[in-house]
Amino acid sequence: MEYVSTRGGTAPVGFDAALLNGLAADGGLFMPTQWPALSDRELAWAARAPYAQVSTRVLTPFLAPDVEERDVKRVTADAYGRFRHPATVPLKQLGPDLWLMELFHGPTLAFKDVAMQLMAPLADAALERSGGRLRLVTATSGDTGAAAVNAFAGAQRVELVVLHPKGRVSDVQRKQMTTATAPNVLNLAVEGDFDDAQDVVKRLLRDPDFAPGRTVSSVNSINWARLAGQIPYFVAAAARLGASNRPVRFVVPTGNLGDAFAGVAARAMGAPIGPVVAAVNANDALPKALSTGAYVKRAAHATQSVSMDVAAPSNFERLLFHAVSGDAAVTKSVFKDFAATGQASLPPDVRLHLIAHLRAVSIDEAATTQAIAQADRAYGEVVCPHTAVGLAAADRLEPAPGATVVLATAHAAKFPGAVEAAIGRAPVVPDALAAIMEGEERFATVSSDYAAIKGAIEGAFGAQAA
Ligand SMILES: *Cc1c(COP(=O)(O)O)cnc(C)c1O
Repeated sequence: MEYVSTRGGTAPVGFDAALLNGLAADGGLFMPTQWPALSDRELAWAARAPYAQVSTRVLTPFLAPDVEERDVKRVTADAYGRFRHPATVPLKQLGPDLWLMELFHGPTLAFKDVAMQLMAPLADAALERSGGRLRLVTATSGDTGAAAVNAFAGAQRVELVVLHPKGRVSDVQRKQMTTATAPNVLNLAVEGDFDDAQDVVKRLLRDPDFAPGRTVSSVNSINWARLAGQIPYFVAAAARLGASNRPVRFVVPTGNLGDAFAGVAARAMGAPIGPVVAAVNANDALPKALSTGAYVKRAAHATQSVSMDVAAPSNFERLLFHAVSGDAAVTKSVFKDFAATGQASLPPDVRLHLIAHLRAVSIDEAATTQAIAQADRAYGEVVCPHTAVGLAAADRLEPAPGATVVLATAHAAKFPGAVEAAIGRAPVVPDALAAIMEGEERFATVSSDYAAIKGAIEGAFGAQAA
């Protein structure tokens, strides 16, 4: 598979390069040049096959020829062997046509493990082939950092730096990051908010004096490898519950639109899926853009579904590129305006193409709390606030002929405050978390000053060429 930039300014690259570089050199995002098709026979097989095998089948064409099928098989078997549920991503029936897909049975109890546990061994293998080293820097509001630390701890050719805003992630989230003992992981608590940490990361990624001799990249969902690793669960669930005349409607709790776009990709491969529904919290730039054509960035609101507090979803650029059939000129004109001014207007035909693939629903804080309470009362399910946003959005949709599947993106125990406020009791803490809460923490506190943060990283990992 070859990957091109959504802005059309770079030559095609293979999977390894898309994985290691994260962002294309012209500032665009990598997209595959075609969607490998799944035949009816393969879909019938995928409805029954073990998840690691479905994942291998879906991912192999995206990774070829850089990664051989037997290596994809080994990586998926190892990764999903570590999940705490034998079905990896089990489907739970809530009503006649309503299902939850539980994506939180991985090591850090959020869906980001599903892709991150593949990304780490794939990055190590790509670096082995190229002989290079990688320094990953990432800013996190919680779940991405935890998933990255768990996945990359001990990777041979990778250094991982995670910046979290001091005092603004939950205790569970912080301890999942800071109790790591591997020497290739550095946790920094930045005195500032998420945007301060994110600004520093963006500057580090462009700084030619930072980490000479290494590739510098990030692990958020602008990285194609992360997104690709999420396509297989849409295929598996659609194969199981859908048919061509009864497409599955997925409702995806959304921040950066990475997970929801993976659903759009599964549909493009031929899985029986209708338009994907992106469920967002009070940060509603996406539903506004789809209904009015005006895409406007406002300051992010802080909500209880913290991992979705995103003012402008990065993967909207991928969705638009896909919706206009790979027209890089149109994509570039929209997103260049947006980067420069924080707003862009979508041409009317582009808006129509977009809503053929994706709908978006915004859920406010009160409705989120109500949905947590309602899930407990009606189904006996204790859900996290992100999942609750999905359930509330599903409740607002018109009836449809096929199954509706809401993605459960995190375990409720990661967000005990919001859950207790809604149902009057704290969620049960799984053993895997209880152990982490006892572990010793290691992190350094730094001011949000650029030079101070760069200095702290160089102090830990060195400034010299590898
Ligand atoms: C990251 C995250 C999301 C949002 O995923 P995107 O790919 O950014 O849309 C939703 N729920 C949880 C629990 C998350 O950690």
